[in-house]
Amino acid sequence: MSKTTDWREKEARYFMRAGRRMPILTVRGEGSFLFDEAGKRYLDFFGGPATISLGHSHPVIVDALTDQARKLIHVSNQFYSIPQLQLAELLIEHSVFDRVYFMNSGAEANEGALKLARKWGKEKKHGAFEIIAAENAFHGRTLQAVTAGGTERYKAPFGPLPPGYVHVPFNDVDAIKRATNANTVAVFLEPIQGEGGIIVPDDDYLKQVRAWCDEQRLLLILDEVQTGCGRTGRMFAYELFGIEPDIMTLGKGIGGGVPLSAFLAKEHAAVFAPGDHGTTYGGEPLMTRVGYEVMRYMVEQDLPAQVASKGKIVERRLHSLLDRCPSVTGVRGKGLMWAIEFNRDIGERLTNAALENGLIVNNVRPNAVRLTPPLTVSDEELEQGLAILEHVIEGDVAPK
Ligand SMILES: *Cc1c(COP(=O)(O)O)cnc(C)c1O
Repeated sequence: MSKTTDWREKEARYFMRAGRRMPILTVRGEGSFLFDEAGKRYLDFFGGPATISLGHSHPVIVDALTDQARKLIHVSNQFYSIPQLQLAELLIEHSVFDRVYFMNSGAEANEGALKLARKWGKEKKHGAFEIIAAENAFHGRTLQAVTAGGTERYKAPFGPLPPGYVHVPFNDVDAIKRATNANTVAVFLEPIQGEGGIIVPDDDYLKQVRAWCDEQRLLLILDEVQTGCGRTGRMFAYELFGIEPDIMTLGKGIGGGVPLSAFLAKEHAAVFAPGDHGTTYGGEPLMTRVGYEVMRYMVEQDLPAQVASKGKIVERRLHSLLDRCPSVTGVRGKGLMWAIEFNRDIGERLTNAALENGLIVNNVRPNAVRLTPPLTVSDEELEQGLAILEHVIEGDVAPK
């Protein structure tokens, strides 16, 4: 493909129109940077989103992929494999959970977690099945995951939707209490809502939810597909809020860019028996080897602590922007997941302007821009990217 117009024409001709794309043809990634076909360099503060945890083509990942590809790429889950066992051990040792199951995507990990909760309800809570989930939540695009999610336009075209979900406002424990009934089996939440616009709940919200779940004997399932694996400045966001969920799902950052996800459970919630669940690719040696090396790197380098200190840089600069820039109405986030909210719907325009200036961010909401750079981003790159963003925001004088 030589001409810059080719790829737009090809896309228009061949693809199902299900998503939006940024207008660049990416050909290479290195660390915090992406390169387009013309060789133009972009600082990538989108990163997947929140998927390119170690940056683009980190040597640890490239070595893991090439070495493992020579040894063993795929084997059925009817066999043992070394990388799967190593990753399982590492995740269990560094979390509060007892058991893990590997899948390929965040939505699938959530499906697994929801199935686990349903079975737990059948066996341990008189057939309770109902899941309390949050408005504005995002859990992926399978039918169960969109149903559990809180965005109407993601589910409206696909009804009838699977039953057994009720939605309550996020960050409102009383709403969860009111929604609880004899059929309730679990509360299913993102600790910080990601696609919803980086919505950080009050410090004690999850503690109160945990206490309610204990009182009512409900499972607490946290979707840490976006918040997990160092993103918030702790290895898992439940640590940030001082609680322990019964079940947690991981995706995105765990594979550093390869399709890998997992759901983990405490012993009492790990009720699957042989035959209850399965997957062809989930947990295969190639992906779990990458996941193992990514997670080992995070542990050995104490990446979460580095993320926490880089988060302070972002926090300081964004708060100063909030103070001096009238169009900025809010900044929120933890670690290296942040959103800037504006007084009007200029997210797309700012995202495009940033792109022209060599910075990739994402308009997570019409009125908000999200930053989820690689966890390995250097302080210098961070300052550089934030300077571009400030320049674009402060120079935004286009009419409403
Ligand atoms: C991205 C995301 C998902 C879905 O992950 P996929 O790999 O796209 O299926 C689920 N939950 C959260 C919180 C996410 O951010």
